Amino acid sequence: MNNYKLLTPGPLTTSDSVKKEMMFDHCTWDDDYKKITLEIRDDLLELAHVDKNEYTVVLMQGSGTFGVESVLSSVIGENDKLLIVSNGAYGKRMEEIAKYNKIKYYLYDEDYNKIPSSEKIKNILEKDTSITHVSMVHSETTSGILNDIQSVAKVVKEKGKVFIVDAMSSFGGIDIDVKKLGIDYIISSANKCIQGVPGFSFIICKKNQLEKSKQNSRSLSLNLYEQWKTMNVDGKWRFTSPTHVVLAFRQALRELKNEGSIPRRAQRYRNNNQLLIEKMKELGLKTYIDSEHQGPIITTFYYPENCDFSFKEAYNYLKDRGYAIYPGKVTECDTFRIGNIGEIYEEDILKVVNLFKEFMEIHGR
Ligand SMILES: *Cc1c(COP(=O)(O)O)cnc(C)c1O
Repeated sequence: MNNYKLLTPGPLTTSDSVKKEMMFDHCTWDDDYKKITLEIRDDLLELAHVDKNEYTVVLMQGSGTFGVESVLSSVIGENDKLLIVSNGAYGKRMEEIAKYNKIKYYLYDEDYNKIPSSEKIKNILEKDTSITHVSMVHSETTSGILNDIQSVAKVVKEKGKVFIVDAMSSFGGIDIDVKKLGIDYIISSANKCIQGVPGFSFIICKKNQLEKSKQNSRSLSLNLYEQWKTMNVDGKWRFTSPTHVVLAFRQALRELKNEGSIPRRAQRYRNNNQLLIEKMKELGLKTYIDSEHQGPIITTFYYPENCDFSFKEAYNYLKDRGYAIYPGKVTECDTFRIGNIGEIYEEDILKVVNLFKEFMEIHGR
């Protein structure tokens, strides 16, 4: 079988109708195409609960990291300082970006199985008043933990700092009231909870902040401000846009609406996630993140103790039977991950748990 469903949090399993949109080679300068870009940007504002007067959307070619790097390298000026809040590989990646771009930063490094504390963030901001921006990940896909952006937003806003959120694996799958939280930049990409295919990221930006960042970009192609200025005229992208991806994304947005928008999709993901954890628990598999902080997107499981477990063998066993899972990404113990977003439903979860059961019976001690 050369066809399987992805239990990975992006790229993920998309619908046939999303894939079908890519059968058309669209030209980029034509009005029909530019309108699609404008339509997509409007839809994203709506999903974020923000309005056009205060916020805007920039689409950026490349994967999610390109979006994060675009923001960090374009908005944090030479005299600014960034507080990076990290409890996983994607937080660490922000540090790498800061290093490459010679951005002044302070790293608050939390354990991978703990959520960052808004109290600690408050203390850091009080101690180091030169900090101007704070960045953090919402759903840390490394572990599956869901960070508390609400209480962090409160502290960051109280202190008058710019708040940057990597909501890559949560936007569209968890309702985020961007306006209410006062988030200045929120970043996600086409191939996660909106259920499109990989090819671009999108950034919802507070306009007055974006305006201020005009002179700060360290990169030509990732220049957020210039990308916005061009795109905002009539929907034309600054450089060649991923046309097929854009068409697929528009269809994915329609399908999100048809499903009942974010509340319904969030419910499906939550149900998938809870069912998965409950059924895996019956097989003796434990989660790395405790239930209080476990997010609804992806789950990290410890290797089972009651069987001779090889990830590679389990992976192949499942893949041959229609599902691709994910290796672990936490460093200190043996784990693997199962994502439950995309075109994944209860029957898929039940099937995959059953395959796991079979595999463990074959390899039982
Ligand atoms: C997927 C993801 C990214 C971006 O990764 P890419 O491989 O560049 O798409 C960034 N942050 C988080 C939390 C993610 O889940």
